[in-house]
Amino acid sequence: MKHVRIDLPQKEMPDKWYNIAPDLPKPLAPPLNPATGEPLGPEMLAPIFPMALIQQEMSQERWIEIPDEVLDAYLRYRPTPVYRARRLEEALGTPAHIYYKYEGVNGAGSHKPNTAIAQAYYNKQEGVKRLSTETGAGQWGSALALSCAMFGMECTVYMVRVSYEGKPGRRIMGQCWGAEFISSPSDRTEFGRKVLAETPDSPGSLGIAISEAVEDAVGREDTKYSLGSVLNHVMLHQTIVGQETKKQMEMAGEYPDVLIGCVGGGSNFAGFSFPFIADKLAGKTNPRVLAVEPTSCPTLTRAPFAYDFGDTAGMTPLLMMNTLGHGFIPPPTHAGGLRYHGAAPLVSLLKEEGLIEAEAFNQVECFTAGVTFARAEGWIPAPESSHAIRAAIVEAEKAKEAGEEKVIVFNLSGHGLLDLAGYEQYFAGDMTDYPLPEEDIDKALKDLPKVGE
Ligand SMILES: *Cc1c(COP(=O)(O)O)cnc(C)c1O
Repeated sequence: MKHVRIDLPQKEMPDKWYNIAPDLPKPLAPPLNPATGEPLGPEMLAPIFPMALIQQEMSQERWIEIPDEVLDAYLRYRPTPVYRARRLEEALGTPAHIYYKYEGVNGAGSHKPNTAIAQAYYNKQEGVKRLSTETGAGQWGSALALSCAMFGMECTVYMVRVSYEGKPGRRIMGQCWGAEFISSPSDRTEFGRKVLAETPDSPGSLGIAISEAVEDAVGREDTKYSLGSVLNHVMLHQTIVGQETKKQMEMAGEYPDVLIGCVGGGSNFAGFSFPFIADKLAGKTNPRVLAVEPTSCPTLTRAPFAYDFGDTAGMTPLLMMNTLGHGFIPPPTHAGGLRYHGAAPLVSLLKEEGLIEAEAFNQVECFTAGVTFARAEGWIPAPESSHAIRAAIVEAEKAKEAGEEKVIVFNLSGHGLLDLAGYEQYFAGDMTDYPLPEEDIDKALKDLPKVGE
C-alpha cells in the first residue's frame, strides 16, 4: 500500500519534551532586567509565571518528563498525522517527495494547545485558579481558553479591540470554552484606563493587551500570566511535534533533506525542527532547516540580533533575539500570527550560528500556494502555514529542475477556516503585498534599548 497518511500509534507518543539548550553550539545570552541591565533571577519572574515553568525556561536538562495529566490531554488529539502530499507532488510534476505534519486537528485548530495545555497544568499544580493573557486575532486566546476548560481553570483574555470587533470567530470559540474575553484597551486595568483617557477610540494593539494582561496577573493572588510563543519553555512544549514527525518519517522509511516551518514568534518551527536539529548538532545527519517569514515582517532575514523588549510597551525583560525594534508595527497582513517584531531567542541564535536558514515570501504568493495546496490535499491552510507551503513548493520546483528525488517535510501549523475573509479578498484580486522598505527598518531600529554601553 502506498503511504498517504502515516499515523503513529498512541502508545508510541513521546513522553518527554526535548530541550535543545544543553546542545547549543553557544549558550543563550541571559534575559536582562531592563532597569539594571543585569541578568534576570528566577524570583523576578515569580509574580507572573509558576515555578515549574520558570525552571523549564532556564533548564539545562536535555529531556524533560511530560506529566501524566498533560499526556492524557495530548491523547485527545495526538499523535497528529503526517501526510505524504502525493496529489500536490502530481500537481507540481516534481520528483520530490513532499510530506507534512498536520497540527490543525484539535478543537482550537493550531499547534498552540501543545503549550497551552502544559501551561494550564503547571499553573493548576501550583494552586493558580485563573490565567490572564492577550490575543491578537484570537489563535492563542482560544487555545488557552480550551486548555483552561480542560483543567477547570478560569481564563481572561485581553483581545485587541479591532480584532475583538472585526474577527469575532475565535473569541466566540473561546467563550464556548468558558473564557472571558475583554476588548483591549479596557477599563479593567490602570494601563487600559490611561490609554482610553488619552485615546477613547484606540483600536488597541498587542503591546497594550500584553500590558493589561500582565497588570491583571500581578494585581491578583489567584492569577498568573501566560505567553503563547517566543519563550524557551514554549519552544520546549512544542517539541512533541518534531519528535512524532521523526518517528513517522522512520515509518515512511525516509529522512528529510529539507525541513520547513513558518515563524511568527518561532514556536511551531522550533517544535517541529529542534528534534531534527539535535541529529545535526550530534553530527548524525545534515538536513537543511528553513524558517519562513513574511516580507512585511522580516525578522530573521533582515533584522539585527540584539537585546530588545518582548512587548511593544517596553515592560518585559530584555531578550537577545532578532528584532525589528519593539516599536515596530507590522503592516496589516492576513497572517496575523506572523506579525511579531522579534523571534524566539533560541531560533535567533540558531540562525546566527548558521544552523538554520531563513527566507521571506510575499502575501499574495503565499495565498496562491495555500489555494494550490487546498485543491490538491483538501485542507484549507491558515495564512501563516501557507508561508511554509510556499517555501515547500519552491523547493519542489527546484528539485524538478535538477531532477532530484529530494525529501521535503513541512509543518502545517493550523487550518484556515476562520481566515476565510483573507481568501475572499485573494479571490477578489484585492490583496496587496507589503515588502518592508529599508527606511522603515532603519526607523524602527532607532529605539532599540542600549545595553552595555
Ligand atoms: C500563532 C500561529 C503561528 C505563529 O506562531 P509561532 O509561535 O511562530 O508558531 C503560526 N501558525 C499558526 C496556525 C498560528 O496560529
